Amino acid sequence: MSKYQVDSRGYYGPFGGAYIPEMLYPNVEELQKNYLQIMEDPSFKEEFEQLLKDYVGRPSPLYHAKRLSERYGANIYLKREDLNHTGAHKINNTIGQILLAKRLGKKRIIAETGAGQHGVATATVCALMGLECVVYMGEIDIKRQAPNVARMKMMGATVVPATSGSKTLKDATNEALRDWINNPVDTHYIIGSVVGPHPYPDMVARFQSIISAETRKQLLEKTGKETPDIVMACVGGGSNAAGMFYHFLDDEQVKIIAVEAAGLGVHSGKSAATTVLGKEGVLHGSRQIVMQTDDGQVIEPYSISAGLDYPGIGPQHAWLFKSGRGEYVSATDDEAMQAGLRLTQLEGIIPAIESSHALAHLEKMEFTGGETVVICLSGRGDKDLDNYMKYFGL
Ligand SMILES: *Cc1c(COP(=O)(O)O)cnc(C)c1O
Repeated sequence: MSKYQVDSRGYYGPFGGAYIPEMLYPNVEELQKNYLQIMEDPSFKEEFEQLLKDYVGRPSPLYHAKRLSERYGANIYLKREDLNHTGAHKINNTIGQILLAKRLGKKRIIAETGAGQHGVATATVCALMGLECVVYMGEIDIKRQAPNVARMKMMGATVVPATSGSKTLKDATNEALRDWINNPVDTHYIIGSVVGPHPYPDMVARFQSIISAETRKQLLEKTGKETPDIVMACVGGGSNAAGMFYHFLDDEQVKIIAVEAAGLGVHSGKSAATTVLGKEGVLHGSRQIVMQTDDGQVIEPYSISAGLDYPGIGPQHAWLFKSGRGEYVSATDDEAMQAGLRLTQLEGIIPAIESSHALAHLEKMEFTGGETVVICLSGRGDKDLDNYMKYFGL
């Protein structure tokens, strides 16, 4: 058993667990009891792998970025999650969870979404499976993210505005939890990152672990060796990073680097650099590292990329950070935007601004020559064109 994976009680070191209201016990317990057995069932694996292949377009390529490599003096490979159907890694998880929901006999899917990316990935798989889909979204986010709202509606989802509090993600999460408490028998709640009560962090990491499973095979083919010197990914809640790191965690010689969003600067008051600013605490049903005031109020995070402005970091990441297995760093808005433009001009690939944060860290690294580096390119930049245009005055 790996010391970096979840234990039988749902913990990673001191982090994780299931801190939930009593009314949610039946729902969460049903998942805890069944998820591993279902995921290990050969017919489940077959259906999951078939859909990843024919619907998502996996395996995603491992691309040797030659011009980027020349610039930094290392052998840089990009794991192309941006080429997946719907444009990012999130679909790996939503496909897995909807197959699991079907096997649990669920007829209805709920989700919460901030920028709308997870809502779209959920609405997509509900259309694919013909299941009812209800997505909770803050009223303010609905206004800010009109194209994603339209995508969800086109796919037949009902988008329910959360009108309480700050009318953003945290209020949408509360509404989704209320729905789940009221509909414990027929409804599955699809969480979009490696957060939430056990077993969600482990379940989502397992679905995303396809990223590193493929990478090992592809590296062996391309370099004659299954392991790189360094793997890197950006971290919001932490799901693309968890998938990128998963099958390398026990190869201690592989350096693991996670890049958080530093917004306008780590200490500017407008940031999402959780491992620097946060303290241990409970958020969204698990013990993790949370940006909070001295009396435990969650601090509103900020990043130019909607996918990274989460005030916590999933329990496995909290443990990789605390145990020293992973190096947790950050990149500012400016550093990420420049890195996004650099990749576009060196390789002809427009990355999601989230992924640009991982690329930005290359500027701060020193290579002795010839190190093999794998970076998870978590998503494509189409959704971010407005932001790039405004930033660069295009
Ligand atoms: C949502 C998203 C992220 C952040 O989520 P994680 O769970 O940390 O992976 C990163 N990149 C892209 C493209 C996203 O859509």
